Amino acid sequence: MAETTSAVRFEHHGDPDVLKVQDVELAPPAEGELQIKHEAIGVNYIDIYHRKGVYAPPLPLPAGLGMEGVGVVRAVGAGVDGFAVGDRVAYVGGPPDAYSQARNLPAARALKVPSDMTPELTAALIFKGLTVEYLIHRCRAISSGDTVLWHAAAGGVGTIACQWMSAKGGMVIGTASSAEKLEVAKANGCTHPVNYRQTDFEARVKELTGGAGVDVVYDSVGADTFEKSLNCLRPRGTMVSFGEASGPVDPVAISTLGAKGSLYLTRPSIAHYTAQRSEYEAAAENLFQAIREGVVRAPEITTYALGDAARAHTDMEARRTTGSVILIP
Ligand code: NDP
Repeated sequence: MAETTSAVRFEHHGDPDVLKVQDVELAPPAEGELQIKHEAIGVNYIDIYHRKGVYAPPLPLPAGLGMEGVGVVRAVGAGVDGFAVGDRVAYVGGPPDAYSQARNLPAARALKVPSDMTPELTAALIFKGLTVEYLIHRCRAISSGDTVLWHAAAGGVGTIACQWMSAKGGMVIGTASSAEKLEVAKANGCTHPVNYRQTDFEARVKELTGGAGVDVVYDSVGADTFEKSLNCLRPRGTMVSFGEASGPVDPVAISTLGAKGSLYLTRPSIAHYTAQRSEYEAAAENLFQAIREGVVRAPEITTYALGDAARAHTDMEARRTTGSVILIP
C-alpha cells in the first residue's frame, strides 16, 4: 500500500478557509529528488498570493502550498549526489508543497543546514534572508551612505533587511502600520521609522533627505505605495518593486520614469536570483555568515501548528504579525 502523509491542499482559490489538511499519497523520491520529513516550515506572503490565485500564473488546482521548509532527508532518489539519509536540509522553491509533514523535493533546491542553526531559526530565515541577500547585494547593492526607503519594515523580510542594511551603513527610512511595528523596525536598525497610516511618507522622505529623495526604494506593498514611492526617489534613483501585499501595481508608462528623473525600475524575483546552484549556495553561505557574525540576528518567530495554517494566513493578511511566521508539522 502507498505511504501517506499529512499536507495542506486547496481546491479553490480564496480566503484562508480553503486550506484543508488532508492525507495524501507520498511516492518514493523520483530520480533527482530527496524525500524530506519536515521539522519546520516557513510561511511567506507569496503563499497568500498562491492561495488567492493572484500570482501569475495561478497554481493549477487542487494545489499544495509553501515555498520554504527545513527537515531531515529520509530517502534519496536515483542520481542524487552529495546528500544522504539523515542530513538536515533547507530549501527555497521547488513545487509548492512545504505545508506538509513530508514531501519529495528536487535535490537541486536542497541546502545543507549548518550544525549551529536550529530547524526553527532556519525556517524563519532562509526564504526571507535569501530575499534580502539578493535584494541588497545583487539586485541593487547597498553601500555605506546610501539612503533607502523600505516599506513593511517590521515584517518578515523587512526585519532582516533593516538589520543587514544598517550594518552596511545604509540610512534606512522604514514604513510600518502601527506604533508597535515602528518600535520593531527601530530595534532592527531602521534609522527613521514612519507610520504610513498616519503620515504622508512621501512628504516625510523629502523632509528627511532635505528635498533630495532617496537612492533606492524597496517596495513590496504594491498598489497602495508604488506611485508615491517613485516620487521619493532622487534623479537616477532605483525602484525595486518586489511584492504586492496591498494589490497589484498598475501598468507604468516608460515615459513616467523619464519625467520623474531618469529612474531605474526592476521587478525582481528570488527564483531568478537563486536559479543557478552556485549563486544559490553562495547566497546561503553569505546569509549563514551574516547570522554567525551577528549582522543578522534571530528574528521574532511566531509559531503555528501545520493544522493552523489558515489561522497563520488570517493573521498575516490582517497585518497582525511581525518578524517571521513558521508552521510546525
Ligand atoms: P510580511 O511579514 O512583510 O507581511 C506583509 C506586510 O505587508 C504586512 O505585515 C504589512 O505590514 C504590509 N502590508 C501593507 N499593506 C498591506 C495590505 N493591504 N495587506 C496586508 N499586508 C500589508 O511578509 P513577508 O516578509 O513574507 O514578505 C514581504 C513582502 O516581500 C511580500 O510582499 C512578499 O511578496 C515579498 N517578497 C518578494 C520576494 C521576491 O523575490 N520578489 C521574495 C520574498 C518576499 P504593515 O502592517 O507594517 O503595513
